[in-house]
Amino acid sequence: MTFFPSPRSAFLLLVVVVLLGAVGYRSLTSSSSSAADAAPVGDGRLPEGTSVYDEDHAGITELDPDLLRALRQAATDAAGDDVDIVVNSGWRSPSYQKRLLDEAVTKYGSRAEAARWVATPQASPHVAGDAVDVGPTAATTWLAANGARYGLCRIYDNEPWHYELRPEATDQGCPPRYPDPTHDPRTQR
Ligand SMILES: [Zn+2]
Repeated sequence: MTFFPSPRSAFLLLVVVVLLGAVGYRSLTSSSSSAADAAPVGDGRLPEGTSVYDEDHAGITELDPDLLRALRQAATDAAGDDVDIVVNSGWRSPSYQKRLLDEAVTKYGSRAEAARWVATPQASPHVAGDAVDVGPTAATTWLAANGARYGLCRIYDNEPWHYELRPEATDQGCPPRYPDPTHDPRTQR
């Protein structure tokens, strides 16, 4: 009678322990990646009503610092007129932008029509951190009247919510708008 496992049974025990460890590890990693899918704070999606002063979401914090500074200054002054500016979309990761484009192709029925509303990850000023989509209507109305003072300009006729920084606008006013993004040279890339 032996008190120690034979080398063979010790080896089998080791194999079992390693396999159990691998299964446990896989279930841990898969549950953490599905949790990340459920709460993608980092890909640019923003909760409804996100403030321009938000510091918790990449959709705000990854914006170009000059654009964010101008937007916050404008929002502070708009608040003095009882107008609340919220950000519906700001910086977006390339994969989030691609998902939006895929959804737009489904919604509009063709890639050509979708291009009037959603740019590719390569061309989107949102992916570059250079654009914000703001709301509600009172905010876009306020920015249409006052945005140029901060260098904040509407770029597209079909998107009254989409603003970008054009620093020269503080002196010269905003440049002429494109009818829609397909007329923007940046989307031809
Ligand atoms: Zn936009």
